[in-house]
Amino acid sequence: MLSVEMPTTYYTTTKKYDLHFPNLENDIDVDVVIIGGGFSGVNTGLELIERGVKSIAILETNYIGFGGSGRNGGHIMAGIGHDLDRIKKFVGEDGLNTIFEISDSGSRIIKERIQKYNIDADVVWGYGYLGFNNRQAKLLRQWEKEYRSINNDVEIEFLEGEAVKKIVGSDVYTCALKHMGNGHFHSLNMLLGSAKAFTEQGGKIFEYSPAVEVTYGETIKVRTPKGSVKAKKLLWSCGAFLNRLEPYLDKKTINTYAFQLMTEPLSDEIIHRISPIRGAFSDVRPVIDYYRVTNENRLLFGSATALTEYIPSDLKKWNRDLMLKVFPYLKDTHVDLAWGGPMECSATLFPQIGNHPEHKNVFFVQGYSGFGVTPSHVISQVVADGMMEGSKYWDVISNIPKASVWGKEHFKSLLLTTAKFIHQLEGYANGRR
Ligand SMILES: Cc1cc2nc3c(=O)[nH]c(=O)nc-3n(C[C@H](O)[C@H](O)[C@H](O)COP(=O)(O)OP(=O)(O)OC[C@H]3O[C@@H](n4cnc5c(N)ncnc54)[C@H](O)[C@@H]3O)c2cc1C
Repeated sequence: MLSVEMPTTYYTTTKKYDLHFPNLENDIDVDVVIIGGGFSGVNTGLELIERGVKSIAILETNYIGFGGSGRNGGHIMAGIGHDLDRIKKFVGEDGLNTIFEISDSGSRIIKERIQKYNIDADVVWGYGYLGFNNRQAKLLRQWEKEYRSINNDVEIEFLEGEAVKKIVGSDVYTCALKHMGNGHFHSLNMLLGSAKAFTEQGGKIFEYSPAVEVTYGETIKVRTPKGSVKAKKLLWSCGAFLNRLEPYLDKKTINTYAFQLMTEPLSDEIIHRISPIRGAFSDVRPVIDYYRVTNENRLLFGSATALTEYIPSDLKKWNRDLMLKVFPYLKDTHVDLAWGGPMECSATLFPQIGNHPEHKNVFFVQGYSGFGVTPSHVISQVVADGMMEGSKYWDVISNIPKASVWGKEHFKSLLLTTAKFIHQLEGYANGRR
């Protein structure tokens, strides 16, 4: 059975930062308290401290990177949300244009942060978006135009037929969009490097210090098992691990699962066959296969259940079967590790940010819907805007309505299976199938 308690992952076994933060064991006063130590919490903390907010505390139930931020594929991708068309009806043409302005800035922010703080995140540039048929080729040609319009200094090239093998060694694809401004990194090292930068500038992080009770007011009080924090502002950034601690937020998302495997180290020849550019890849189907090679010549291969919601009983085998459909020549390759984790999905599949309706000093970010690695770097800037002086990006994104998911306590699997079915049908309409 999948362990979501304390998963061992590629990231936990290869991390380069040996950082440990104390438990909160006393009562402290800060300007901002952040609950949740993933990309959302740490990145927003760093954004705030860079803007001059000096007194910030991040509380984390386990360790920094325990959640999705330490379990994902490590893909640095284009965009800040699944199909922007889903939110067009809420934000209108102008709102969509405003979002589009920042939609592709994630890779740039990651690149700048790595340089600024000298973060050792094994970053590699080179990405392929992959298709299986003519409809997906049409979609990828459209993406080529869009991406080129906002990335004129980056190599972006549509590939078809045998040319696809220039970037990925598989017979299953008929087309690809090569994007050399996207790529992959070691997401836990990226997160820990950012956490280090945050604490070096005076930010405080407390691990194994869950928020267990929160009282709102002009001064917010957060209680942990052994201490407490008083703050003027609070940010909820708990991802799929919020539970019911904040009922207003808990209603707005529903958790589904994604899984990953890590192969044994492969020879240089096999890695070259898998990907001459040592890149990261995802297909464009509604539920994607996504994979990449690592610095140690391993393949990380991930996916999620496409139609019905369940946790496979043998994760290594389940992922391996999918991997062999794409790379049959890996049939003798040993799978060293497999893991997974929950991802909180919003009804629009777009990240949710905003204020608590009754408490304007309470902010939140959640709902990345399985696409948060790159987007969280952009969205955290927008959340920091919202917590400070505001911005047009905050205004547009925070005003997107957030539908509640009713009945998830009793009918979670049914709701998710239905949602996945609809998502697959929509895939036909938007060229993803
Ligand atoms: C297996 C898997 C593969 C994925 N692959 C990709 C991918 O390739 N590309 C991509 O873009 N996205 C991917 N994702 C999604 C991505 O990882 C997430 O969207 C992103 O990391 C979310 O970051 P976050 O900070 O919002 O949440 P998290 O990283 O989950 O952090 C939330 C943190 O809050 C803490 N917390 C919760 N409650 C409390 C409390 N009461 N007190 C204190 N702390 C609390 C949790 O312990 C957790 O550490 C994947 C996710 C999974 C699980």
